[in-house]
Amino acid sequence: MSSKNNVDITREIQDGANRKKQKYYRKNVGFFKLLEKIKLWPSRSGILHGVKSLKISSNTIEVTTFCGETFIVWNSRNSRAARWLRNKWCFCACGKCGIPAWKIEKYTATMMTQKWGSGL
Ligand SMILES: [Zn+2]
Repeated sequence: MSSKNNVDITREIQDGANRKKQKYYRKNVGFFKLLEKIKLWPSRSGILHGVKSLKISSNTIEVTTFCGETFIVWNSRNSRAARWLRNKWCFCACGKCGIPAWKIEKYTATMMTQKWGSGL
């Protein structure tokens, strides 16, 4: 949250939370599926990046962000990123990725409804 380029999206998150209309996903839905769906990735520093591409193997996934970062993550519901995505610990979007508002809204709506939704 230190970079000036990053955008505070707390407002969007809250707006999304107030609008309960979207699809419902169960909390136990696969982490990969969730990633594929929302195309957002939380970095270690707590910044939300836009996902450009995903390369899924049996146990790992290669994530490439719009700002040019690539990394491998394990398919674990208990990984840091999985927890982050579920709990929304930080509301800060990467300025370089230029995540569109609708994507953030989708993410918000998805997260808001995970607790009581049906499976994918
Ligand atoms: Zn980024």
